[in-house]
Amino acid sequence: MGKPTGFMEYLREVAQEVAPADRIRNWDEFHLHMPEDSLRTQGARCMDCGTPFCHTGMTISGMASGCPVNNLIPEWNDLVYRGLWEEALERLHKTNNFPEFTGRVCPAPCEGSCVLGITNPPVTIKNIEYSIAEKGWESGWITPTPPQQRTDKKVAVIGSGPAGLAAAAQLNSAGHWVTVYERADRPGGLLMYGIPNMKLDKQQVVQRRLDVLEAEGVTFVCNTEVGKDISAENLLKEFDSVVLCTGSTKPRDLPIEGRELKGIHFAMEFLTANTRSLLDGYPGNDYISAAGKDVVIIGGGDTGTDCVGTSIRHGCNSVTQVEIMPQPPETRSAGNPWPEWPKVYKMDYGQEEAAAMFGDDPRAYLTTATKFEGDEQGNVKAVHTVQIQWGKDENGRFVPQNVPGTEKVVPAHLVLLAMGFLGPEQPLIDALGLEKDGRSNVKAEHEQYTTSIPGVFAAGDCRRGQSLVVWAINEGRGAARECDRYLMGTTELP
Ligand SMILES: Cc1cc2nc3c(=O)[nH]c(=O)nc-3n(C[C@H](O)[C@H](O)[C@H](O)COP(=O)(O)OP(=O)(O)OC[C@H]3O[C@@H](n4cnc5c(N)ncnc54)[C@H](O)[C@@H]3O)c2cc1C
Ligand code: SF4
Repeated sequence: MGKPTGFMEYLREVAQEVAPADRIRNWDEFHLHMPEDSLRTQGARCMDCGTPFCHTGMTISGMASGCPVNNLIPEWNDLVYRGLWEEALERLHKTNNFPEFTGRVCPAPCEGSCVLGITNPPVTIKNIEYSIAEKGWESGWITPTPPQQRTDKKVAVIGSGPAGLAAAAQLNSAGHWVTVYERADRPGGLLMYGIPNMKLDKQQVVQRRLDVLEAEGVTFVCNTEVGKDISAENLLKEFDSVVLCTGSTKPRDLPIEGRELKGIHFAMEFLTANTRSLLDGYPGNDYISAAGKDVVIIGGGDTGTDCVGTSIRHGCNSVTQVEIMPQPPETRSAGNPWPEWPKVYKMDYGQEEAAAMFGDDPRAYLTTATKFEGDEQGNVKAVHTVQIQWGKDENGRFVPQNVPGTEKVVPAHLVLLAMGFLGPEQPLIDALGLEKDGRSNVKAEHEQYTTSIPGVFAAGDCRRGQSLVVWAINEGRGAARECDRYLMGTTELP
């Protein structure tokens, strides 16, 4: 522990951001670097706890508490305080293949469970992680390290999101020949085509890591959907093992009156086409513009927030986010104690930008859409909404009940459905003949990752349902370990 009294002497500080009214003019990342002195001071706030809840990734009440990849947080906080950045990076890479991704996009369950957070604002763990990773890239400490010896084993990884990339990186480091199949035109999964550029830069951050993986010997085969362009059967014959990392990509629909109208899209159609247009330098046929439009986003979660930020950068006329749940409290409620993930009200980047543009948080809480209204040409022109309250039905289950007299008609030229995901797409899972769990995910135990077919492993959102980048990395690493054990009879992978 660098400074035993640091937590009493220093206040929490986080990195500055470009002001909302300025950053909406472009697609650049908006977090600014924190000066080195400030980072060292923040590292000094860590108490090096006997039981560092920050790094003990657990699931409590269905949510992550502590770091899911078990980052050695107190160790690198201390190293940063001492200015030993290269050693801090080495510690960070022991548990996390891609700290530059989590340092940017992770909601930081580590900070939610930080012991200092019981009485004070928690240590700024995420910002320190980001800074260690970026210092590593800037200083040239992150370079390709191909394995010194190769085995004769071939592994196919299906899907190139964070789970697939982590699995590929680990299996390649163990000397296996790894081919990653991806149906999109670029690898990265939701790192490339889900999370918008202003949160995670595609060329400078995602591609930078993909280049290293390729130079280490991982082969990427894009524009190739397994089960369609290559049969699942052939893949099983050709490779010694298969790791399935296909994500949870089936979006939840809203089958209310008017759903067939033009101008109503799933959030991912909007976000994917937008990022592709930025990368290609021109809008494709599937590009959906929000420019000059009244936009209504159904769903107040993170995907909805990304739609808000993207619509504002397009130059929308207005934006409303419809959220069926109540507004969370300003501070933890009695039923949500430390070290649980704090379910508290926060303005995320998209809401801050909407407030800067239009004067207010765009979220309408305890509200649901009842009908989409169209014009004579079949284009959506409004969303009918009503406020709800949560009551119990005859079986004691919570159900939304409309509040009479609260009906509204919200103008809408573009409606984006961001209500979560219902699990992985089924055709490939069925073609492989894999068992599923009750939620249509691939059936495999966490930490085992073995499916009902020997030699086929599953990791990430296709196994656990839509989750977080950090869980996907955790699972990809774990599946690689078990795959290596299957191939070699033993494993040294963590
Ligand atoms: C809009 C959005 C924003 C998000 N923002 C955040 C965030 O800020 N922070 C965070 O922690 N999490 C965020 N998440 C969640 C996070 O991105 C996911 O939990 C994570 O990417 C899951 O990783 P994965 O590797 O399991 O799957 P994915 O990233 O979904 O990757 C799966 C890949 O498999 C490919 N694939 C599917 N089927 C086939 C096939 N048959 N053949 C070949 N390829 C196939 C898909 O094309 C895709 O590229 C966000 C999710 C969304 C939708
Ligand atoms: S819980 Fe917080 S104070 Fe304790 S070791 Fe982790 S980061 Fe440091």
